[in-house]
Amino acid sequence: MSAPLTPCPLFINGEWVAPKLPATPVYNPSTGEVIAECPAGGPAEVNAAVAAAHAAFPGWSDTPVVERARVFFRYRQLVEQNFDLLCRTVSREHGKTLAEARGSVYRGLENIEYACGAPTLLFGDSLKNLARGVDCDTINLPLGVCAGITPFNFPAMVPLWMFPLALACGNTFVLKPSEKVPLSAVLLVQLLEQAGLPKWVLNLVHGGRSAVDALLTHPQVRAVSFVGSTPIAKHIWETGTKHGKRVQANGGAKNYIVVMPDANIPKTVEALATAAFGCAGERCMAGSTALTVGAAAERLLPDLVAAAKAIKVGPTDRPAQPDMGPVITAQHRDRVLGLVAGGEKEGAKVICDGRGLKVPDAPGGYYVGATIVDQVAAGMTIAREEIFGPVLNVMRLADLDQAIEQANRSAYGNGAAIFTNDGHAAREFTMRVKAGMVGVNVGVPATMAMFPFTGWDDSFYGDLHIQGKEAVQFYTQQKVVSTRWLGGNAGDVWKK
Ligand code: NAD
Repeated sequence: MSAPLTPCPLFINGEWVAPKLPATPVYNPSTGEVIAECPAGGPAEVNAAVAAAHAAFPGWSDTPVVERARVFFRYRQLVEQNFDLLCRTVSREHGKTLAEARGSVYRGLENIEYACGAPTLLFGDSLKNLARGVDCDTINLPLGVCAGITPFNFPAMVPLWMFPLALACGNTFVLKPSEKVPLSAVLLVQLLEQAGLPKWVLNLVHGGRSAVDALLTHPQVRAVSFVGSTPIAKHIWETGTKHGKRVQANGGAKNYIVVMPDANIPKTVEALATAAFGCAGERCMAGSTALTVGAAAERLLPDLVAAAKAIKVGPTDRPAQPDMGPVITAQHRDRVLGLVAGGEKEGAKVICDGRGLKVPDAPGGYYVGATIVDQVAAGMTIAREEIFGPVLNVMRLADLDQAIEQANRSAYGNGAAIFTNDGHAAREFTMRVKAGMVGVNVGVPATMAMFPFTGWDDSFYGDLHIQGKEAVQFYTQQKVVSTRWLGGNAGDVWKK
């Protein structure tokens, strides 16, 4: 007998509601079982959510910032108290291992901690007597209703990149999580309600394109934060800005890791295996291509293949944890397998083959084993497209210049890394590579809450990135006040 479905309500007007709507299945990717049904909200639900958030804005934005921050101190504590439940929910609907889920929820927790600093983050500038008797002050004010649209691959962390800071800055918010993983978002909103966030300030709607387009065109939505694939990020940016909204839209990626001949091989193998196969490769910061320079390939590949073959793949929803879990859906698994097959047809060599992996204790799950494809060439589809699965391409280059040139050919510009002990090579790489986040002997240079998550090119559309001071700027507008007090009767214009 299968377990009852987990409820997946919307949160609108301070009420948890489960309207009768068409719904899409939410799977446990470890087993292929349906664990919930995500209601497909549309314009009616979005309009109700935005109306509530709009009505709540005057009261919430006028709440002293220290009081707003206190809600997030309490929220932080509640998220910590419910940490295991949250991690299990992330793992169950996404397929991450529990260790990976914990890592990602910690990253989210740091974003709540950052938001607790709102009283300091919202400081303005002040300059006295900038003209004779005139003082000038900037005031950082919230925008109004902001919206967040999030992807499947980090069900708790990515929503936490958005609403804590937006709310602490005094905005109200409508969250629309991925319909593939809505349950972590439900839990996050329940905890914020428990932390004492006033009713209507945060609303949660579910659904896909119809809900998103209703948010993008709604006149009362002032700003949209988006994280997802590049074509949708572009659509969000184009449609949102056309409708007068501020937009930050993070897209997909294809991240290169250069391995120089002098790299520390054991450390590089460890870092590359984590970068390529961690979270089953479903990370926008996944190291998806190793660019080996000169003799590095011969030194690296035997150990890397051995490390990949040793990765235990299996279900993540039971006490014995594997090293790597499934990918999100059967359709996504088939796409990943198709890309590898396409690479082989175009002349690449599969030197570690994770296709055809059988997981006997979870035959319905969506598994791909760690896969390494060597001798990938620049023109191949597998070299250009984001794979978003546990697949590492290897391209062999003669020198650092060629490696940088290859990395810079990509349409994306999210992350890049170099493994070397040569400071000059590292400096050349960090200065010349076309990517927003760069690692030196760090395989996944994803930034933490206090630094912006700075994708470039087709990995980001907009001006101000998610996280850090840029995000504070994104969620606020500046007013500059020039003041001159006139002394004595000279200023007493009302009596004249
Ligand atoms: P996705 O683009 O399919 O979906 C993201 C969101 O957009 C979801 O909420 C979804 O409901 C909505 N959506 C989907 N199709 C839509 C449409 N036609 N119109 C309007 N909205 C639509 O992305 P995904 O598959 O959930 O997530 C994986 C992608 O996200 C990868 O490309 C990954 O690189 C990227 N990602 C990027 C970052 C980053 O910071 N750059 C972080 C995490 C994930």
